[in-house]
Amino acid sequence: MLQYLVILLDDTSVAYCHAENPLKERNLIPLDTLKKAILFGMKENLMIQYVYPDYELPEEYNEVIESIDHVKIGRDVAVYNDVPKSIATENAVLCLSIDEFIAKQYDIAALLPQVTRLNICLTDIETFKDEQAEDYKKALTTLNAVLVNLYKSGKQPQLNILTDRLQLTEMHNCGAGDSNITIASNGKFYLCPAFYYDEKMGISNRLNHHKPSSERSVGDLETGLQIPNPQLLKLDHAPLCRICDAYHCNRCIWLNQKLTWDNNTPSHQQCVIAHLERNAARDLQQQLIAAGFSAGEEIKSIDYLDPFDVREQF
Ligand code: SF4
Repeated sequence: MLQYLVILLDDTSVAYCHAENPLKERNLIPLDTLKKAILFGMKENLMIQYVYPDYELPEEYNEVIESIDHVKIGRDVAVYNDVPKSIATENAVLCLSIDEFIAKQYDIAALLPQVTRLNICLTDIETFKDEQAEDYKKALTTLNAVLVNLYKSGKQPQLNILTDRLQLTEMHNCGAGDSNITIASNGKFYLCPAFYYDEKMGISNRLNHHKPSSERSVGDLETGLQIPNPQLLKLDHAPLCRICDAYHCNRCIWLNQKLTWDNNTPSHQQCVIAHLERNAARDLQQQLIAAGFSAGEEIKSIDYLDPFDVREQF
């Protein structure tokens, strides 16, 4: 069921997830389109998430934006493409390559006491090699140690890749095209911002091999939302994910399509990274329990990093 409407206020709005935004030319959403998008959100009872560019919007936009409850990504939630020395917002996103994450693990750890929630978003999961697993695991161990000390000192910051799994007893994934939908400045719907970037960059539609086209929209504000075969985005149609317990995994359908040519079939890279995090969350859970904290339902020990390798067991 749809719950969130993501409104890209400009083509240069900040990218806050796995896909980087390659669009460099400003293209502000027309005021009339913005009003129609808000009306759609109101009618469908959706929580609005505005995604901001790095410049100030004209005053008339601010009035319209404030006319409905919302979250401002790029403002209330700060988004960085590096690791800053300090963070002014309670909630922030760091979009980093895997190597940057590993190299800057101690700088990231130093940010944890400053925030309520820190989201790490890896921007090059497709390049992940199994040889990087040990270093990624070590970086997670570093962050675990800092989290445990913070818990002991009375602070409990959230770090998406480690603490989310502690709270979850079922899948809680990105939900693009299922629990959330994106609207771009052209008034069209996209499963998520990354599909809009692909369309603008002329990347052929990987789902439509016979008629290559970069068209990626799934409806517009005039004709409504039209997602072809919406069931194919859902967990119950994802044979691997539905047997998996890396409940915090983003299950990124854009990445899936890019790497496996199927929205609902994950790549080895995504599964291995999510399982390294899942296993590190298990370590964190055990350390927190040993320190006297309750830390959610027990995360079991497993001996695989990719559910594809053990699919016959399920
Ligand atoms: S780890 Fe792999 S199988 Fe598990 S939810 Fe993520 S993408 Fe799906």
